[in-house]
Amino acid sequence: MTNFIIEHQCPQCGAPAELEETDRLFRCGFCRTASYLSAPSFFRYVLPHNAPQDKELVYFPYWRFKGMLFSCLPGQIRNRFVDLSQQAISSDHFPFSLGFRSQTQKLRFATSDIHGRFLKPELPKSGLIDALNDRFNANLPKPILHQAQVGETISLLYAPFYVTEKVIDAILNEPVDGGSTEETEKLLQEAQSPNWPIQFLATLCPHCGWDLNGERDALILYCQNCQSVWWPKQGRFERLPTVYEKTSLQSPVFLPFWRIQADITELPLSSYADLIRTANLPRVAQPGDEERPFYFWCPAFKVHPKRFLAIAGHLTAAQPRDGLETGLPQGDMHHVNLPLQEAVEALKLILTEFVRPRKRIDDILSALQIKARRFLLAYLPFEEGPHELVRADMRLAISKSTLNHAHNL
Ligand SMILES: [Zn+2]
Ligand SMILES: [Zn+2]
Repeated sequence: MTNFIIEHQCPQCGAPAELEETDRLFRCGFCRTASYLSAPSFFRYVLPHNAPQDKELVYFPYWRFKGMLFSCLPGQIRNRFVDLSQQAISSDHFPFSLGFRSQTQKLRFATSDIHGRFLKPELPKSGLIDALNDRFNANLPKPILHQAQVGETISLLYAPFYVTEKVIDAILNEPVDGGSTEETEKLLQEAQSPNWPIQFLATLCPHCGWDLNGERDALILYCQNCQSVWWPKQGRFERLPTVYEKTSLQSPVFLPFWRIQADITELPLSSYADLIRTANLPRVAQPGDEERPFYFWCPAFKVHPKRFLAIAGHLTAAQPRDGLETGLPQGDMHHVNLPLQEAVEALKLILTEFVRPRKRIDDILSALQIKARRFLLAYLPFEEGPHELVRADMRLAISKSTLNHAHNL
């Protein structure tokens, strides 16, 4: 698994800095200014070149995908972790993928200070997903009922080349196998300038003006002063609704979950009583359970694909509801690094974890549609053991090493 390094300059004082790919909250080591990085749809990076000074560079685009890929088959779900790059312009005249280059080189953001001509991607982001599915489906038994990508990072990486009488790889300064100057000239007719600025948001609480806090890869930031939670939306911070479960534990660790209410077709699943029937839970519906809404509970943190769905299915079947308070808990909070959108993409998969009998969900999975309607971020307290975080009441344990290793996912 790779998590590459990006060379960068502090937008405030210009001091050099290095970021990890997943870093969002950047605090300058020199001027201490903090800012939050965002890009309109995805980040674009360039690989550094070793070309002679007089050469005009041509940047060829590669999509880069890193994330979990789930495939639902009758009676089972296959998951795999995928980390790969592939051409964003289908061409026999450029290397098919980046190979290991992006792991050994320090990248830079593709911003206007990078000189060169950028070839325009032909394959859209959606085409990348189709290509990924095609590639991995070849080895799967059929039929495939549903597929989803969860928690993925998608970015565009530009690799440098230049043209002499041959097409030269500007990293290795060697001719490209099968490179064609005519084809490159043709592609250059659609070249772009690197006009993709990175946005830096000031990390001040929009409500009270205090500094917002968070982990370096956090997708949301907190204000400790007014106990509010914020996430970036279209270039500014918006308030995110949160609840937490009260606890009598001495030093709880709070894990974040997306609690999502959704419209589901093909399956009666709008109340807790529906859940008892649909999941065949060993309990009898109580008065009020028909009115009590059903919620999906999905981890808002990255965790190994094997555990991710199991935890979501477990929590969803448990439907925590007691002692939920508005606001932020006191104590250790695990950071949020799985976006809401990714949780929404996982909802269909989560159904397969608890709908019984399993065949029932297999039969309707392709046709079934889920539309998320309402959400909030909910913090649930876990008791910290030597190796695990435990919810005895739900018979759920999450290994601490699984959580720590998830940093690179
Ligand atoms: Zn600085
Ligand atoms: Zn505040």
